Amino acid sequence: MKRPLSLTGIPVSPGVAIGRAVLWVSREDSSPKRALEPEEIEPEIERFRKAAEAAVQETESTARHVKERLGPEYAGIFHAHALFLKDRTFLGPIERRIAHERVNAEWAVAATTADLMARFRSLPDEDFAHNAADIDDVGRVLKRHLGGEENSRLRMEDLAGEAIVLVADELTPSDAVRIPRDRVVAFVTERGGRTSHAAILARSFGLPAVVGVPQLLAEVGEGDRVVVDGRDGLVWREPSEDVVAFFRERRNQEARRERSLKERSLGGITRTRDGAEVAVRANIELLSEIGDVVEYGADGVGLFRSEFLYLSKEGVEFPSEEEQAAAYREILEGLAPRPVVIRTYDLGGKKGARHLVGSDESNPVLGLRGVRLCFARPEMFSTQLRALLAAAAGGNLRLLVPMVSGVEEIRRVRTLLKKAREDVLERGISVPDDIPLGAMIEVPSAAMTADLLAPEVDFLSLGTNDLIQYTLAVDRANETVSDLFRPTHPAVLRLVARVAEAARTAQKPLSVCGEMAADPALVILFLGLGIREFSMGPRTVPMMKEFLRGISTQDAERVARAALSLSTADEVSTFLAQELRDLAGDGAPRTAMRA
Ligand code: PEP
Ligand code: MG
Repeated sequence: MKRPLSLTGIPVSPGVAIGRAVLWVSREDSSPKRALEPEEIEPEIERFRKAAEAAVQETESTARHVKERLGPEYAGIFHAHALFLKDRTFLGPIERRIAHERVNAEWAVAATTADLMARFRSLPDEDFAHNAADIDDVGRVLKRHLGGEENSRLRMEDLAGEAIVLVADELTPSDAVRIPRDRVVAFVTERGGRTSHAAILARSFGLPAVVGVPQLLAEVGEGDRVVVDGRDGLVWREPSEDVVAFFRERRNQEARRERSLKERSLGGITRTRDGAEVAVRANIELLSEIGDVVEYGADGVGLFRSEFLYLSKEGVEFPSEEEQAAAYREILEGLAPRPVVIRTYDLGGKKGARHLVGSDESNPVLGLRGVRLCFARPEMFSTQLRALLAAAAGGNLRLLVPMVSGVEEIRRVRTLLKKAREDVLERGISVPDDIPLGAMIEVPSAAMTADLLAPEVDFLSLGTNDLIQYTLAVDRANETVSDLFRPTHPAVLRLVARVAEAARTAQKPLSVCGEMAADPALVILFLGLGIREFSMGPRTVPMMKEFLRGISTQDAERVARAALSLSTADEVSTFLAQELRDLAGDGAPRTAMRA
């Protein structure tokens, strides 16, 4: 048995979980490396050959299909891929790598295709860059046929009855949304950051999670016993019985505390100590979370990330207009009369749907994402708008547009909405007249021009995850720069203050739906800037309501003024953490701010 070991990463979703490790191979790029025993080499090469044969068959059948539907010129690329997949000069090096380096086939495919792509890209002729893209595609097909997800599922079957901790290099949003939640009790990844979408989903699902754990895949193997402490970011491999007993007790304590907070969260308006009314809403991604909104006492939905209707689906087809309308109706009717903010598709960037973008972007987060991608795919967007309008009569709908960078985009959305409304009315479906339209403020240009945007919309919503990413030039999902992802950076605070001022002047409601809204130390600051609406993962709602009931707006205003006068993120974090302790006393909720 392996000796006990503890690893540290970034805590992203609280709670304690105890289970057996299952290595999860991401659907996208990641290929965890696994060392082979000598006797495993031959079977691994055999497994690789079978995968290559299956990949050839699939690619040839795609070529036939494409030829019939689109014509021979489009099928050529698939014929070329099939040739690659049969070519010994391509397959041979992969097999040799398996044998000589004693590594699993997925890894050998990834390493060999990466080498080849680098060689093609270093050649001066443009055509070779296309070859690199072909190799990339062929590598993906091969990895898919090697099993990826299926393998993980099979191994989960082997562990029948045991709680499972998923151990992965990285989880994409669509991986995270497909985690079989009946068996999986936590996940741990080598990459990722606090506001990566897998982390956000973990909090929504109440799954303890730790990301950005260095050496994770080298240290934790299939079937190892693992304890995950999502509050402090610890991962224990083969822990001693004492450690397990300690964490079992902590798990019980946390469950008791959550139950009592939940009871107090239900019913009635939430007011601060001095009587200011505040709304605490939920961010959700899936229809299955509608029950959580009610159960955790949220005042409606402050952000429904509608792109997950697509990301949680198998295949590349979009949900039809009818399917979408049914989904929107389910949320609206299920939660009426509570308000439900549905955000239009925020795809592209790192959220997946690369095929929609059309080309391989070298910088996707600055590329066709959110409303830009919607404009580039007008049929996709109009279908969504019609579905939303057709469902609107079922409840209290508010529409929110992601990745807005300036006023023109809002005007363009209004024009498209008008057309969608006419189309829906023409079919005899009634559409309420006054559906509020809001803009996400998550791009610095939108924050800087919030005074121009506010008069054009009915409400604003601060998406602080992206606002921090774009303001500080720090990838929100990259663990190597996670120390630089600082919500308390004075630049972020100034932008937030500016947006709050613009909303106040235009008398438009402003909410915060980024992860900053889930941190009580930062909520003091927002409250002090006059913000009264917050949205967060459903499970955080009870804690936040309890916290808000205990503080006053005067205290919060003093704190906000003082925080805005400080010079560094560290100074602001230390100050806010201290104020949190002073204002909330012994039972102060936890903050992620470093004091
Ligand atoms: C944000 O950017 O803060 C936000 C709420 O949107 P998402 O996390 O889905 O990008
Ligand atoms: Mg965002």
